[in-house]
Amino acid sequence: MSKKHNFSAGPCILPQEVFEKSAQAILDFNGIGLSLLEISHRSKDFVAVMDEARAIVKRLMNLNDDYEVLYLGGGASLQFVMVPFNLMKSENGKAAYLDTGVWAAGAIKEAKKFGTVDVVGSSKEDNYSFIPKDYTVGSEYDYFHCTSNNTIYGTQMKTFPKVDTLMVCDMSSDIFSRQIDFSQFDLIYAGAQKNMGPAGVTLVVVKKEILGKTGRDIPSILDYSQHVAKESMYNTPPVFPVYASLLTLQHLENNGGIAAAEARNEAKAKLLYEEIDRNPLFETFCKEEDRSLMNVSFRLLDESKKETFDNAWKAAGISGLNGHRSIGGYRASLYNALPIESVQVLVDVMKNL
Ligand code: PMP
Repeated sequence: MSKKHNFSAGPCILPQEVFEKSAQAILDFNGIGLSLLEISHRSKDFVAVMDEARAIVKRLMNLNDDYEVLYLGGGASLQFVMVPFNLMKSENGKAAYLDTGVWAAGAIKEAKKFGTVDVVGSSKEDNYSFIPKDYTVGSEYDYFHCTSNNTIYGTQMKTFPKVDTLMVCDMSSDIFSRQIDFSQFDLIYAGAQKNMGPAGVTLVVVKKEILGKTGRDIPSILDYSQHVAKESMYNTPPVFPVYASLLTLQHLENNGGIAAAEARNEAKAKLLYEEIDRNPLFETFCKEEDRSLMNVSFRLLDESKKETFDNAWKAAGISGLNGHRSIGGYRASLYNALPIESVQVLVDVMKNL
């Protein structure tokens, strides 16, 4: 069967080379006569994987040794809990959150269990169709939390505010897709299952000096300091997702790094947005200035064409184009591994509708 044009929002397309190399590692890892799945995480072969998986993130992000890289279980959703547990003061804890979508709201909901949460900006009343920009965050807050890319609505923060406190960002759906000064953040997290690898592991990049300052008694498994002390091997790590993430990041590094990925992502997004703007049958859900390069959420204006459109993209070998169940319509996710040829196939279908 020929490969589909995979626009899935996540888990999603990864480089073909990653599928092939990780399949090989399941059969025989590094030619050692054992599968990656049957060796100890303390074996020298796996420790080398974890060491390199941690090192490559710092190289790609251009971060110094003030930062530690962790690969944790529990998904990005567990970080909604670990962030306040580790960063919100036990007494009079207070954090500022930007509410830009369902995932940001999920983070807010959990943080409220630990202390006061001020939502400094929200586009909820407007169906999360834009990124609020008119707010300030002062030093009375323990930290500020934002979501760089809103996977469902197709909005993306193009710039980040200067805040007077720690800066925390959920980068689950646009990590490694564009050049950013990563050193402006004190903590970054991202579920791997978009640009980074398969589901089952979450990347956490944390500045060491911010830890251990809340006065809270944090259960060890939820304490970043414990994971840092054990070099991301506090307990058995998700070995396969870590290895496949390493392969994905090596692929990125060998293909020009983040700068080259950004140029490819911009070209793909331009191709699709130009067609949406030109074609009177389509429109995006969000404000133009906040359009995401990763998730292009759009709708069909003439419902009578829905069946024809759906049949046409499916016949063209396209998969994963349906919008998130909460807003409907369509969503084309243009993650790093999606080739521009797939976008061209979609644009051709839209042109012929
Ligand atoms: N944050 C964002 C921006 C997401 O897109 C998602 C999931 N798609 C999550 C958090 C939740 O991630 P997980 O399913 O890994 O908990």
